[in-house]
Amino acid sequence: MNTTFHSTRGYSEELSSRQAIRQGLAGDGGLFVTDDLGKQQVDVAGLVGKPYQDMARTVLDVLLPDFSDSELDECVHAAYGSQWLDRAITSLKPLGDDYILELFNGPTSAFKDVALQILPQFMARTTSGAPETSERVMVLTATSGDTGKAALAGFADTCGTGITVFYPEGKVSEIQRLQMTTQTGSNVNVCAVKGNFDDAQTAVKRIFGDKDLAEKLEAGNNVSLSSANSINVGRLVPQVVYYFSAYAQLVERGAIKVGDEVEFVVPTGNFGDILAGYYAKKLGLPVGKLTVASDRNNVLFDFLTAGIYNRERPFYETTSPSMDILVSSNLERMLYYMSNGDTELIRSLMDDLQNKGSFTISEALLKQIRELFSCGWADEDQVSQAITDCWNANHYVIDPHTACGYHVLEQEPREKAMPRVLLSTASPYKFPRVVGKALDLDTTGTDFECMDRLSEATGTTAPKNLRGLEHAAERFTDVISIDEMSDYVRDASQRL
Ligand SMILES: *Cc1c(COP(=O)(O)O)cnc(C)c1O
Repeated sequence: MNTTFHSTRGYSEELSSRQAIRQGLAGDGGLFVTDDLGKQQVDVAGLVGKPYQDMARTVLDVLLPDFSDSELDECVHAAYGSQWLDRAITSLKPLGDDYILELFNGPTSAFKDVALQILPQFMARTTSGAPETSERVMVLTATSGDTGKAALAGFADTCGTGITVFYPEGKVSEIQRLQMTTQTGSNVNVCAVKGNFDDAQTAVKRIFGDKDLAEKLEAGNNVSLSSANSINVGRLVPQVVYYFSAYAQLVERGAIKVGDEVEFVVPTGNFGDILAGYYAKKLGLPVGKLTVASDRNNVLFDFLTAGIYNRERPFYETTSPSMDILVSSNLERMLYYMSNGDTELIRSLMDDLQNKGSFTISEALLKQIRELFSCGWADEDQVSQAITDCWNANHYVIDPHTACGYHVLEQEPREKAMPRVLLSTASPYKFPRVVGKALDLDTTGTDFECMDRLSEATGTTAPKNLRGLEHAAERFTDVISIDEMSDYVRDASQRL
């Protein structure tokens, strides 16, 4: 099949999946989608009992048709190997009458590893030609925490690529900072900037738009800039795999038969994690319901309830920082498919969001969306209570992001016989102080002391990649001003 990708806002570009991954965002500001999604279905029964890697090859082969079998083999092999603490990669565990899917057993203990371990492999295969002459990619990211480390770990020492991560000085947790500044690899760069996350993010966007710099980098060292954020189609498609994995594990346990429907409850920020579940449904997975779980930044809850998306609202810094988002970018892809590919509509909605700060969808479209998507949210007290309740009820420790989902799960009426799977997006050891407080532990001292007390109280073990940070050597200590970021990128690119 000759599948092409185009923008959610129009058809002026027609790209292969390889080109779409390379480019990231469409020229008109839209996100890349294909109208072939769902034309080829995945044989769900055929996946049962297979290792995760086999499922990944099968699903990715459908979603990225212009990658050859051997290329996908190599990518999957590099991404889902011994760097994962769990051989099943994403393990399904019982949680009372429900189930929990652990997405955090990768090298940085956050679910973003599922996508960011394999995206660099895709990216490295988007240029042709001999390694000495072909163009190289410098990936740029501003991070408020999780994405930076997961991207660093994924791109470290990946041929033909480099990565530069900027984080706001003093605005990330001690563990998150150490995770980044101790990153090994010859092609990685980490730098603190004086300012907040928005300042850093805005500066990175400006650098992407700087034509002068782009020309200098190309002429100087044949380097082009790219981004690893969650609108890239290469970050979305790997996440579709774990929905199939969860389903196959339910069949293996005898909890369901192939064909039975399953509900997923998904901690969501940028709508990537849950959109992957919608893609899985389009590929033939029997998904009964997808429930969006938000934190106090509940813009998606309001949208799915009233059909009005309004980003003009207060921004709250919560204990689940990776879900603190006002503009949920991947929602645009869901709206595209739900409106049967109405690019005109999507363009006008996104124009409204840009110009008026909000958009409204029709009653009919909202009704159709609500038949599949349900929603809920948790405030800060409810997050803390959910961590406590989940421990008391199941002797299972969850992090604050997963806790938003647990709260929603507990609130929702259970539908007859439909099994429910809560997606767990981070290790509780990434947030030992918040989790320790919820469990009434002593939270004085360093994050590492909090980890040790959490470990002792719950009989669980802190992942080495986190506990070992206490004595790891810090490689990156630069702190620069916002104005110096462009020069930093140029210097880093020259070393590539
Ligand atoms: C990124 C992230 C989320 C939200 O995922 P989206 O793809 O933005 O919906 C949830 N939890 C954790 C721990 C994350 O890092």
